[in-house]
Amino acid sequence: MRIDILTLFPEMCDAVLGESIIGRARALGKVDIRFHQIRDFAINRRGQVDDTPYGGGAGMLMMAQPIFDCFESVCNEIGARPRLIYLSPCGKTLTQERVKELAATEGFALLCGHYEGVDQRVLDEIVDEEISVGDYVVTGGELPAMIVADAVCRLLPGVLSAPEGYIGESHYSALLEYPQYTKPPVWHDREVPEVLKNGHHAKIAQWQREQSLARTAARRPDLLERAELTKADREFLQKLEENGSKT
Ligand code: SAM
Repeated sequence: MRIDILTLFPEMCDAVLGESIIGRARALGKVDIRFHQIRDFAINRRGQVDDTPYGGGAGMLMMAQPIFDCFESVCNEIGARPRLIYLSPCGKTLTQERVKELAATEGFALLCGHYEGVDQRVLDEIVDEEISVGDYVVTGGELPAMIVADAVCRLLPGVLSAPEGYIGESHYSALLEYPQYTKPPVWHDREVPEVLKNGHHAKIAQWQREQSLARTAARRPDLLERAELTKADREFLQKLEENGSKT
């Protein structure tokens, strides 16, 4: 997979995506992430990429032309036009479902806005999709782009050390993950649940499933509507509701 990130701060993205699991995946050639400096496509000598908004208002807007030329250069480099996603608080909120879909593609490009945003005309002309990372505003599209790239890359074959280690994680199949514990068995008088120490795999799996259901019901009941639930799951949730339990 190839991901192209169009930004005014390529070093910031490269530093973060050069570390840890994604950094290793890049070094091993599991994913090719490239950064493109939009300022390199400014037409005046001062490297200007932003200007005041028509109609007034606070702050500066990124100009259409440097972004358009930067994307054209990416298309020429690839020899094809990648899907272009603009990170925006006005976009559709990112979900694990969308992450899975993106992970199944050959690649895509991410456009990071900055300042007050981007001239609408270039968005209308070249952007295929807008993605938001949540109902809040950050200063630039770089952190949101890194979230998209990270979430997608960890689903690619060979990126996580445990094959398909993401299955069973929160949101993979709509539910939240069950609580997890590591050594020591007792810490600050808090014990690891007995069931996890007895090596009985079927009982452990049942405990984990029930914890996952209970946690989702308590914290994100909206997710249960999308989850695939068995008869046993439904009976467990029914009992929980009757007992009024919280996790
Ligand atoms: N004026 C814009 C608005 O109210 O919609 C916000 C501009 S924001 C300060 C600058 C840039 O950060 C945006 O162009 C976008 O690329 C990025 N950004 C901010 N919040 C975001 C979010 N929740 N999701 C994705 N990108 C975001």
